[in-house]
Amino acid sequence: METLIVTGGAGFIGSSFVRLALAERPGTRVVVFDKLTYAGNLANLADVADHPGYAFVQGDIADRDDVRRLFAAHRPAAVVNFAAESHVDRSIDDASEFVRTNVGGAFELLDAARRHHRELPAAERERFRFVHVSTDEVYGSLEADDPAFNERTPYAPNSPYAASKAAADHFVRAYHETYGLPALVTNCSNNYGPYQFPEKLIPLMTINAIEGKPLPIYGDGGNVRDWIYVEDHCRGVLAALERGRPGGKYNLGGSSERTNLQVVEAICDALEAELPARANPALAAAGVASYRDLETFVADRPGHDRRYAIDDALARRELGWAPAHDFASGLAATVRWYLDHRDWCEEVESGRYRRERLGLAAR
Ligand code: NAD
Repeated sequence: METLIVTGGAGFIGSSFVRLALAERPGTRVVVFDKLTYAGNLANLADVADHPGYAFVQGDIADRDDVRRLFAAHRPAAVVNFAAESHVDRSIDDASEFVRTNVGGAFELLDAARRHHRELPAAERERFRFVHVSTDEVYGSLEADDPAFNERTPYAPNSPYAASKAAADHFVRAYHETYGLPALVTNCSNNYGPYQFPEKLIPLMTINAIEGKPLPIYGDGGNVRDWIYVEDHCRGVLAALERGRPGGKYNLGGSSERTNLQVVEAICDALEAELPARANPALAAAGVASYRDLETFVADRPGHDRRYAIDDALARRELGWAPAHDFASGLAATVRWYLDHRDWCEEVESGRYRRERLGLAAR
């Protein structure tokens, strides 16, 4: 049985990928390696905990001993690296963990993979893959009429988070060019879906709206992101693992550009369909008649990129991949999930994070 190591597999996207990999690759053993930071939660993996192909190892990708022990014990046929500090606002307040995990951790994984790869028998060496999961934020910001990012767009990260992801992408490329490590990078747009930590836009707005709390919209609400349903992203990562070119780089997008204000309004409308405002006592208590009345414009985030848009033609062509969900169907499923999983929300919020405003550190 081949082993696939999934770092950050207890987070939002990683846990979705683990479910998909176990379902789609019955002959693969999936070992999740995760530090369980505030964003990592074994409750995200509860439905696969008893799967015979699943194992969990707690550890830190930035800790050399942890990583070397992991490779020695599990001898992977492939590694997919989702582990990261992932929230831009946190990186503005303090970037040190972002540098440590996103750059230092990626380096430790790459270096352990290089040592492991060179010792493998020829046939296994040929098949080994290292997939690094990255973001479209490495490309910087677009104006309204600029063409979408493609794989040749120069890197121009604007936030400490984006800079840390960009640095790791460069190390992946360098390990392929220098050592021949069969590594590749995927750069994906904004994800949404079940199990997303409620500091991110869609779960934050959904939970606040359910509870009749204000919906804080940064600046004029006109910042544009391309939204992708998490399972579609995971199918793209799996396609890159199975069919991607070593040394390759693939953009993955959802073909769903929306302003933040459009996203918030779509959440309000999806909620209205599932739990009408007049039937929600929290709204009556807040003295408002509709979810949209909870919208509140707040000071913008420093260095807030205006627009991201993804050209994913290469992934569609080379990987035979395309997103299966449109924004309306993905969002309806997401809102339904948050309504049905209030216990999960309360559990993950029981740590330090209380939906407070982060990322206001002075320029
Ligand atoms: P997340 O914050 O929900 O999960 C991150 C996971 O990594 C958590 O389980 C956490 O415990 C783990 N982790 C953090 N530091 C670690 C360390 N030092 N060692 C081991 N594990 C550690 O993040 P997410 O939204 O699921 O994002 C996953 C990956 O996808 C990240 O690399 C992120 O940059 C990338 N990505 C995210 C998006 C998005 O919209 N969320 C878009 C594109 C790319």
